[in-house]
Amino acid sequence: MTSRKKLICVRCPQGCELTTSLDGYGAITKISGNICKLGIEYAETELKDPRRTLTTTVKVDGGALPLCPVWSEKPVPKDKITEIMRELDKITIKAPVSAGQVVAENILNTGVNITASRGIIIR
Ligand code: SF4
Repeated sequence: MTSRKKLICVRCPQGCELTTSLDGYGAITKISGNICKLGIEYAETELKDPRRTLTTTVKVDGGALPLCPVWSEKPVPKDKITEIMRELDKITIKAPVSAGQVVAENILNTGVNITASRGIIIR
């Protein structure tokens, strides 16, 4: 039995609407609607190992601002985002904070560091 899934490619502003066909085992049998080959790569990644770049904030102790914006250095598995957010909610970093400072190394064994996206001076 085959199934179809529609996706919007976000690799460029064109936003091609992709149609993917999957066999009964979930293997991709066809991808259509893409203008270029990046659409094929996008659909394959999105169906096999969807990832997202995560941006959020963590608490800062003694800083001029109470929160520091952070982001994942690389996209993290989409199904781990909620768990990662819970983990980051437990973290409080000490001011001063430098832009690019690692605030959580190898978060949940994903191989991805979470880093500060701006500096925070001491209050
Ligand atoms: S398939 Fe190619 S042209 Fe279409 S949105 Fe993706 S990157 Fe852009």
